[in-house]
Amino acid sequence: MPVAVTMADIAAVAPAGRPLVICDVDEVAFRFVVDFERYIEENGYRLDAVSYGLTGNIKRLSDGVAVDQKTVGRLLNGFFADCAADQEPVEGAAEALAAAARRADIVMLSNLPEAQAAIRAETLARHGMPYPLVANTGPKGPAVAALSARARTPIVFLDDSPTNLVSVRDGGVATHIVHFIADLRFARLAGDIAGIHLRTSDWAEAAAFIDRALDAAQSEHERL
Ligand SMILES: [Mg+2]
Repeated sequence: MPVAVTMADIAAVAPAGRPLVICDVDEVAFRFVVDFERYIEENGYRLDAVSYGLTGNIKRLSDGVAVDQKTVGRLLNGFFADCAADQEPVEGAAEALAAAARRADIVMLSNLPEAQAAIRAETLARHGMPYPLVANTGPKGPAVAALSARARTPIVFLDDSPTNLVSVRDGGVATHIVHFIADLRFARLAGDIAGIHLRTSDWAEAAAFIDRALDAAQSEHERL
C-alpha cells in the first residue's frame, strides 16, 4: 500500500496526466463523529453537539461539565490509538471513489500522525479504498498544490474541515471543492464557506458532482 508522509514524498505519489480526486478521510471516507462518540461514552464522556467542533461539546458524564481542549486532544489520541483499525466507511464512499477511479486518480489526504498512516491505509484498503494515502500536517492547500502539479484538470477536493477548505480555496490551484460532512448533526451546525462548489453529506450527490466536473473537463479537452 503506497503511503507518503512528507512533502518530498508527495512527489512520488503525485499522479500525472489524469484528473485527480483528493479525498479527506475522517467524516468524508470514514465515519468519525459517531465512532468517536461511542469511544468517549465508554470512557466517561458524552458528545452534546451544540456548536461546530469538538471542544466545548464534550461533557463529563459525571457532572455534565464541558472538558477543555487538552482533554479533547487526549481523547482523540486515545481514539486513534485504540480504534483506528475499526473505523467504518461512510455509506457510498468506496463505491463513489471506485467509480471516479475509472476516470481519475484518487489520493487520500488525511491529517494524522505519521505513525498511524500504515494502519489507516490498511483500513481504507480493507473497506475498498486502496488508494495512496498522504499523511499531512496543517492546512491542506500546500499538499493539494503539490499533488496537483502534474495532474490534468479537473482537480476535485473533498473535506469537512473549514480550515482545509479555505486553505485549498486560497491555495492557487483551480479546484472543485466539496464541503462534505457525514455527520448530520455537525452538517447542520457548520457555517457556509464562500467559494465552495458543493456542500453535502451524501456520497451519491458528491459522485454526481465529480462526474459533472470530469465531463466538463473532458469536453473542454476535446475542444482544444
Ligand atoms: Mg476530516
